[in-house]
Amino acid sequence: TLPFSLFVKAVEQAPVAISITDKKANILYINDAFTQVTGYHAAEILGQNESKLSDKSTPRQIYYDLWHTISRKQVWHGQLVNRRKLGDRYLADLTIAPMFDERGAISHYIGMHRDVTQAH
Ligand code: FAD
Repeated sequence: TLPFSLFVKAVEQAPVAISITDKKANILYINDAFTQVTGYHAAEILGQNESKLSDKSTPRQIYYDLWHTISRKQVWHGQLVNRRKLGDRYLADLTIAPMFDERGAISHYIGMHRDVTQAH
């Protein structure tokens, strides 16, 4: 079996921005690619809500759909307009999956996103 530290490295070094949050989207963990895409280092964003990334120009219906989906234990995939630490906007292609405890209840969410601004 693989050593546990290899799983940690895999997430840390994965070439997609990864964050793990509590059930209210407060950020508990970010990987290196998250810092590269957003400009935020861990010390600046841990404990803050994912909404800090929002450009506030995405229609509310999209956030409603996002929360409606993930709170029902489904995976959500879509595109949002995000804003980097330095203020410039980018189009984020985002997948959010619920994480479950031993009883099957949602314990956390994992978010994975890429900057797809160039593709549009
Ligand atoms: P909010 O008040 O946060 O939410 C808008 C609407 O979403 C509300 O009216 C409500 O319908 C619904 N909602 C919000 N919180 C909850 C909740 N706890 N339970 C049920 N419904 C709720 N947003 C981004 O803009 N960019 C991202 O990259 C991003 N990544 C995320 C990654 C993860 C893992 C998760 C869990 C969420 C992510 N979000 C992201 C969503 C983010 O948490 C906010 O909901 C969103 O940015 C809207 O923020 P707001 O302050 O405008 O409105």
